[in-house]
Amino acid sequence: MKQYTEAEYSRQEALAKTYRRFLDAGKTERECAANIVAIAKEHGYRDLEEILQKKESLKAGDRVYAVNMHKSVILAEIGTAGFEKGMQIIGSHLDSPRLDIKQKPLYESSGMAYLDTHYYGGVKKYQWVATPMALHGTVVKANGETVKIVIGEDAEDPVIGVTDLLVHLSSAQLGKKGSVVVEGEALDVLVGLRPDKKETDEKKDAVKAYILKLLKEKYGMEEADFISAELEVVPAGKARNFGLDNSMIMAYGQDDRICAFCSLTAMLESGVSEKTKVCLFADKEEIGSVGATGMESRFFENTVAELMEAAGTYSELKLRRALKHSRMLSADVNAGYDPLYHDVFDKNNAAYLGKGAVISKYTGARGKSGSNDANAEYLGALRQAFDAKNVAYQTAELGKVDAGGGGTIAYILAAYGMEVVDLGVAILNMHAQYEVSAKADVYETVSCYRAFYEM
Ligand code: MN
Ligand code: MN
Repeated sequence: MKQYTEAEYSRQEALAKTYRRFLDAGKTERECAANIVAIAKEHGYRDLEEILQKKESLKAGDRVYAVNMHKSVILAEIGTAGFEKGMQIIGSHLDSPRLDIKQKPLYESSGMAYLDTHYYGGVKKYQWVATPMALHGTVVKANGETVKIVIGEDAEDPVIGVTDLLVHLSSAQLGKKGSVVVEGEALDVLVGLRPDKKETDEKKDAVKAYILKLLKEKYGMEEADFISAELEVVPAGKARNFGLDNSMIMAYGQDDRICAFCSLTAMLESGVSEKTKVCLFADKEEIGSVGATGMESRFFENTVAELMEAAGTYSELKLRRALKHSRMLSADVNAGYDPLYHDVFDKNNAAYLGKGAVISKYTGARGKSGSNDANAEYLGALRQAFDAKNVAYQTAELGKVDAGGGGTIAYILAAYGMEVVDLGVAILNMHAQYEVSAKADVYETVSCYRAFYEM
């Protein structure tokens, strides 16, 4: 591990504090996207839509943002060299594993009210029970009005949660395989117990009725409005310092908001460069980068086309050249080595917390299937750039060859013929409710991304 001076430790601490606030302000992809746009605006970024409407032209140094359906964001700073020379792109994702509320969720059973859920992303379901949860999301009412909901984050707010079976009656449950100890349909969230007074006698779902009454009073929401809602159940509470030595951070959603934060910070701190700098924040990575807001959509390509049009340099061929000549870092988390589970790691090729940004030449599983395999020449160029700035980095594979694996958005951009490599942060407890990262790694990864933008 790199030795830091006291001054460097204080810089890490200050950065960690900003990072914790960033996590607290964005516990869903929508909240995180809105927060990124707000921060970008403070730094002089302007809405691309507005620029296009006013038919303004973009020049070197201009800072713009584009938002896709409130869930994915692109920031760009126009470089001096022109788009055809290629862009420097860092891409992360804003979505995290959670429990999504179904479209017909509210029911009453045995005098208790529940919200039915469908888990989102890869989760070990047994981790999501008996722990405080909050409800975040957006409801579009019958009249078209949109209401934002956050319940369970303020200290005075109630929390909600999924119950678990008491150990005394768990002998059958504990004999089951881990993947079915808690089943998907058992992840319903307990939300109420109190019957509605007026309806206790005549109506049988009096507890459900009372919940509906509260939703009506507080949000003007009807039961049918769940149809046009996106409500997410996420771990309640704020990001915390972790470790007796305060060296780490424990928080929900660090996959992949840690890379979103590091790339955003690097983007804002680095100066105008020759190449156009792009910082992109995708949605739906955890379920395969699908849909209009996932990386597989044309949002990125279309936005680059619009940027080139506004800069007066668009043609179909020039767009293709711009993409082909670009360099990209696929910024996602990696598995931190955990000595308690050493069996699944190759010690020499694992990522260690506190040892800096993690480069994965390739991802994939079992024979590199589904992998993006970065070119040796590209890695050579990156090493030079990072070494010149004295950035701490390490290389790693996600676990032993036959243990499993994972992928990111890297292959999607690599399809344009640009250079792409996975470069992110090692975390522990990945996809659990509370993931753990090292403050030193946040610091090194910001430096690393900054060195990339300044290449
Ligand atoms: Mn991820
Ligand atoms: Mn993930």
